[in-house]
Amino acid sequence: MFDILIRGGRVVDGTGGPSQKADVAVKGGRIAEVGNLPGAESRLAIDAEGKVVAPGFIDIHSHNELYVIRDDYRELFESYLRQGITTCVVSNCGWSLAPWPREHGDLFRSTLHSMGVSGRFQPEWETQEEFMEWLRKRGLPVNFVPLSAHGPIRIAVMGSQARFCTPEELEKMKGLVRRDMEAGCRGFSTGLTYFPGMYAHTDEIVELARVSREYGGRYVTHVRSLTDTFDRAVEEAVEIAERSGSSLQISHFMCVPNLGRAADLVYAAVDVLEKIN
Ligand SMILES: [Zn+2]
Repeated sequence: MFDILIRGGRVVDGTGGPSQKADVAVKGGRIAEVGNLPGAESRLAIDAEGKVVAPGFIDIHSHNELYVIRDDYRELFESYLRQGITTCVVSNCGWSLAPWPREHGDLFRSTLHSMGVSGRFQPEWETQEEFMEWLRKRGLPVNFVPLSAHGPIRIAVMGSQARFCTPEELEKMKGLVRRDMEAGCRGFSTGLTYFPGMYAHTDEIVELARVSREYGGRYVTHVRSLTDTFDRAVEEAVEIAERSGSSLQISHFMCVPNLGRAADLVYAAVDVLEKIN
């Protein structure tokens, strides 16, 4: 006896192979069988004739960790579920609600305010691990894959200092990235056009991405410029990925067309990427 049987749909399983007409049986929250299952019994049967059956989609760029603290968060996630998205990679662009930099709580709160997070918010966590525990208790409508985010880590160590880090500060930040990765983060994200990422030297990011790489993490970046130096910003992202040994994800491959040269700059950035391929 299966829990759920999805009958007669066209199954696209995400492996890249051709679609096939098949039944999908679920038991204990997992896919138990895929195939022709005419005699199978189940508690719930769903007729998928004429429909496509596929695994949940993964949204690799979201900021949803910022919005789960809202009272209406379940309604917000309904749009994801209706699009078939069941997993979101969160804490992109160097932003996250963890670690919460206690010593610089007011500064952090005012920075988050510009992203639509209530300025009065008081978290019940400090570390990434505590945040994840809080999320588990709260109950998420979709799965989260968290990244270690540069912003809160730099604020925790350096507050609002608009300068490069000292070797001691770098060691402290590396420790915080390591703590995030130990808690289950899957990469390291930066937002280099934003405070405080904009004050970081390339070497700082390389060192922090290296820690994430030790845990198999990728480097995910909102690059340092989305205007007339976009191609150079992409060059920096490639340099950080190469020097840290990380795989690279450029979050927004776009250029703000304020100079009428946006397309040229995007092509120049494509050239940068083609050279390394
Ligand atoms: Zn971004």
